[in-house]
Amino acid sequence: MNLTAESHRVPLSDGNSIPLLGLGTYADPQKTPKGSCLESVKIAIDTGYRHIDGAFVYYNEHEVGQAIRDKIAEGRIKREDIFYCGKLWNTCHPPELVRPTLEKTLKILQLDYVDLYIIELPMAFKPGDAIYPKDENGKIIYHETDLCATWEVECHPYFTQPKLLEFCRQHDIVIVGYSPLGTSRDETWVNVSSPPLLKDPVLNAIGKKYNKTAAQVALRFSIQRGVVVIPKSFNPQRIRENFQIFDFSLTEKEMKEIEALNKNVRYVELLMWRDHPEYPFSDEY
Ligand code: NDP
Repeated sequence: MNLTAESHRVPLSDGNSIPLLGLGTYADPQKTPKGSCLESVKIAIDTGYRHIDGAFVYYNEHEVGQAIRDKIAEGRIKREDIFYCGKLWNTCHPPELVRPTLEKTLKILQLDYVDLYIIELPMAFKPGDAIYPKDENGKIIYHETDLCATWEVECHPYFTQPKLLEFCRQHDIVIVGYSPLGTSRDETWVNVSSPPLLKDPVLNAIGKKYNKTAAQVALRFSIQRGVVVIPKSFNPQRIRENFQIFDFSLTEKEMKEIEALNKNVRYVELLMWRDHPEYPFSDEY
């Protein structure tokens, strides 16, 4: 596959295609200044990103929508150039809620359509106005649904998911790997006892050879395996850095070396919901 900054889409079986590199947009709303998502998405689009990953529950979807609309108004892009992925939150799983929830998202984005709409997590919570519905003991109230799960998968050099990747290859399914840089290591939802991916000596040594950072090597590794990545950054320099992965390629030996780093380290374990009947991370896949 000849991957370039302008052309790095992979085909989907419905005739659409998805760019292998996208911008992740989750940032803790308590700690992130208003407008930084707006600015970051604009910088990303100017840099060449054409895939943006967002969600209602990130509380900044209105900024993502505004950034896309501003760039369309400027004439830099057309709507069809952008691949936007939105997500159905846990309280909206009952089938009759899916369409109105998507319509709400479109209203927030002020866009006519999203390119992909996935189930954020396969664990339903009680429907209603509360995003995190809790009982009198402060415990999240779960909800039973019939799940036909569409599922995004954590994927990076410490969690290479060989079995899942092989299954998906056989069935023509494209994987989107979230947390491709090993997350922001926010201890409220990340297993921070696991080693930080970007400090890995092998990734850093390979990076040195190409004058690239460990982050760029980790991202290049994923897209070279055909795994779509959506690194999050709201820092202009790092947004650009994460896009500079089309001017070098890893040798087969280096790909193998990085594959061998796999430690089955899952950063996003969501252990607080492990008693949910649909908790997804107990299965080998
Ligand atoms: P990432 O692996 O993308 O890492 C993001 C962190 O790395 C941020 O702290 C960012 O900080 C930092 N960073 C970005 N670029 C670099 C770089 N070049 N060098 C060093 N540090 C860097 O983690 P996420 O967990 O955010 O995953 C990415 C996206 O995937 C999310 O934003 C979200 O869109 C999606 N996601 C979906 C999930 C789901 O359940 N469906 C679950 C988790 C994520 P800074 O901004 O300061 O650059």
